[in-house]
Parts: sequence; C-alpha cells; structure tokens
Amino acid sequence: MPKFSEFKDTLWYATAPDAPDTVPLEGEVKADVCVVGAGYSGLTTALELARQGVSVVVLEREEIGFGGSGRNAGHCTPTFTHFSLPELRKHLGEPWAERLIRRQTRANDKVSEMISRYDIECEWEQNGYVQGALFPSHLKTLRRNMENYNAVGARTRMLDRDEVHAVTGSSRFYGGWFHEEAGGLNALGYARGLGRAVLEEGGRIFTGTTVTGCDREGQAWVVKSQRGSVRAEKVIYTTGAYTVAGWPKLDQTFRIMRVFVAATQPLSPASQAVVLPKRTTIQDGRGDIYVYKYNSENRIVASMFPMGARGRDPALTRKILSERLKWLHPDLREEPRWDFFWYGELDMQRRTVPRLYGLAPGVVAMTGLSGRGVPTGSMIGGILSDWALGVSEQDLDLKLEPLSRQPVYMNLAPKIALRTYRLRDNIRAKRQRADLPPYA
Ligand SMILES: Cc1cc2nc3c(=O)[nH]c(=O)nc-3n(C[C@H](O)[C@H](O)[C@H](O)COP(=O)(O)OP(=O)(O)OC[C@H]3O[C@@H](n4cnc5c(N)ncnc54)[C@H](O)[C@@H]3O)c2cc1C
Repeated sequence: MPKFSEFKDTLWYATAPDAPDTVPLEGEVKADVCVVGAGYSGLTTALELARQGVSVVVLEREEIGFGGSGRNAGHCTPTFTHFSLPELRKHLGEPWAERLIRRQTRANDKVSEMISRYDIECEWEQNGYVQGALFPSHLKTLRRNMENYNAVGARTRMLDRDEVHAVTGSSRFYGGWFHEEAGGLNALGYARGLGRAVLEEGGRIFTGTTVTGCDREGQAWVVKSQRGSVRAEKVIYTTGAYTVAGWPKLDQTFRIMRVFVAATQPLSPASQAVVLPKRTTIQDGRGDIYVYKYNSENRIVASMFPMGARGRDPALTRKILSERLKWLHPDLREEPRWDFFWYGELDMQRRTVPRLYGLAPGVVAMTGLSGRGVPTGSMIGGILSDWALGVSEQDLDLKLEPLSRQPVYMNLAPKIALRTYRLRDNIRAKRQRADLPPYA
C-alpha cells in the first residue's frame, strides 16, 4: 500500500471549518449510484446527482478531503497545466478536446456558483492569476496562450512589465499573462463545504470506509467495505492519486509525483503592500515552478516540486523558499518563517489530462486531474453525473476509454522533465541576459 504524506500538517487542517458529521458504513445500504472517494471529483458528482433527486452514497477511506482535495495549494485557475490548447486538441481529437476545453475554461463559474449557493466558508477570493516571464522570449509563448484561451471565451490579457509590477509588486518580470477569473481558496474548507452540500441535498457520505472490491450480483453492483456494502446500479471511482485497492489495477493508471506546499507567518501590512498588493496568485513562469498567493490570514502559501535535496532537507528547503520570495520581492519587510510545510501526491500520466475509464458495464473511474484539480474536480461532477444519468457515450464530454497502465518509464519521466525544464529555462535566461533566481 502506498504511504501518503501526513494530512494533519497542512495549513488547511488547522484553519478549515469543521467537517460535517459522518460515520463508517455498517451493513448493507442501497443507492442508485455509489461514488468512491470524497475529494472534489466524488463530491461534485454526488452533489449534481443528489440535486437531481438521484439516490447517491459516497464512500471515503479516511475523511472528506483527505486526498489532494484537502491539501492542495488552493489555486483555482481554469486552464490546463500540462498542455497548450493546440496540444490538447492533437492528443484528444475532436469533439473531445473542444468539450473538455469548454468545461475547464468555465470551471470557475461552477466553483463560484457552488460556494455561494451552499454558503461554503473557504476563503474564496477571485483576484486573478499572473503567469510571469522571467526572460523576454517567454512572452511569445504567453501571448500565444492568451490568444488561444481568449478564442474559446476566456477573459485573459497580457500585462507589460510595469503592469506586472503594479499587480504583483515584483519588478523581476518582463511581462506576464493575467487571468482575471482565477481565484484561490482554503482547499479543505472547500472540500468539507462540498461534503456538507451533498448531505443537504440528501446524499449520504460514509467516511473511514475503505472500498475493498466491487462484484456484480444480478442487475446490481455490490461495493464492499470492511463492515458494509452498497448495492447500486452504477459505481464511480474518483480516488485519484490516493487510490488504495477498490478496483484491480486502477492504481496503475498513474504514477505518483510529490509536491510540497509551505505557508509563512501572517505578513505585516507593510509587507502586504509590496508583495502581491492586489492579492493575485502568481506563478513565476519557469517550468520548475514557484507559485504563491495569500490565504485569508495574509500568510504566503507557496508551492514547488521536490528536486534533489530541495524538499528532502527541511532547512535548505525553507531557505530556498525564502530566497526566492526575497529575490522576487526585495522590498519584503520581514524574514519569511514558513510556519506550515506539507507534502501531497499528484497522479501523473504520460498525458496528464482527466481520463475516464470504463471498468465494466455500469462502472467507471476517473484519474489524472494532477495539478489543476481544483477547477477540474469542480467541473468534472457535471460529466460524471451525465454518465450516471445515462447520457450516451458519444454525447459525454469525456471519451470513455479502457483502463490503461502507465509505461515503466513514467517512474522517472516527470522528474526528468522537471530537470529538463529547469535547464532549458536557465539556458534561455542566460542567453537573453536575464537574471536567474537563487537556487535555479
Ligand atoms: C500538494 C498538492 C498541491 C496541489 N495544488 C493544486 C492547486 O493549487 N490547484 C489545483 O488546481 N490543483 C492542485 N493540486 C491537485 C488537486 O488537489 C487534485 O488534482 C484534486 O484535489 C484531485 O481531486 P480528486 O477528487 O480527483 O481526488 P482526491 O482529492 O485525491 O480524493 C480521492 C479520495 O479517494 C479516497 N480513496 C482512495 N481509495 C479509496 C478506497 N479504496 N475506498 C474509499 N475511498 C478511497 C482517498 O482517501 C481520497 O480522499 C494539488 C495537489 C497536491 C497533492
């Protein structure tokens, strides 16, 4: 069984409103649909179904939001992280690419709608997202992205150097791409709020309940856990990177890549005036990313991928996080302290886009949300509930595919890719006489 990172170290665990009361499943219950996994994907699916009067049960191994949904960095930017839109069209083909792009680029409408309809306390702030350019030629790529996204209805624009400075407080960038619909939230607060909404709409959630298998009995599926079972017509697995058992080989549809998040002490008003004065989220634009935003207590919440001793050596990791922040914001008025530090797991695939697997008639699974799971997990419930409601395969917004294992080289490929991006960016920056961040 994989060993997942500690959940209770996260800032969100310390600050999210309490979870709704739930208990483990005992005995047999019946439902139209059984959803396995109480992350954003499972909860939004259950919510869509419960709202439409479908009887739905969610089974969760640990607690609501235990997976990526309760421990992510909280950025909600309705774009794709691994591929440009033309690449996505090439990989997925039509009509699938266009349908997924439409859902993803409108995902933040869905997030806002659910938060306001169910009064979810999760620090939702929609102050935009800047992807910066730390060397001049990067602006060309960002401009192309802007054009591609705006062509499908996104509201994004390019910022020049002075505008990026005004929005982010950093004069390091040659310009940037601004996505005004992007936002940030308390990851676990949002997951728990979605859980509460499912219960309000009449759905049932059982926590501390590990699904150990699923068998066909007559017309129904029987989803089994340690001390109970759910008899349902349809079953949806949304267990993502945190998949444990449940269905044979589902955990081989991805490889885990770890990522870490850290949060400073609440910054003083003087520091807030010079670091992200408009409270946007910012990604530094490098392939080996450094991305940060505020939480509602004015802590900077930053994330990076582990690489070598970075991530493994706590003192060095904190030093790198601080040096980067101070390099980007030399006017920062205080020394960052990094009060919280935690890891999480991502489900990486050879082509990391959401994948819908047909496991058996009446059973599907979804993995591959990876680093954009906040918007994707929020909109994916619309697609999975369509499937459960009987929308035909060709009319679904995701292609139903057979379960496929990741090739062996995926054990190393994400780490090698990260190092390659770092090298490529360093070479370009040096050639263009741009400064390199510390520890680049
Ligand atoms: C550290 C970190 C930072 C990230 N930052 C961002 C970010 O800033 N923005 C962004 O958009 N995305 C981010 N992501 C990605 C995002 O969090 C995930 O893609 C998303 O939360 C996945 O949601 P999910 O519902 O598909 O799966 P999860 O939230 O992982 O939920 C799966 C659930 O299934 C349960 N489960 C597994 N096996 C079983 C079983 N057998 N029986 C019952 N239950 C089971 C697990 O316990 C878990 O709770 C980040 C991820 C991590 C880890």
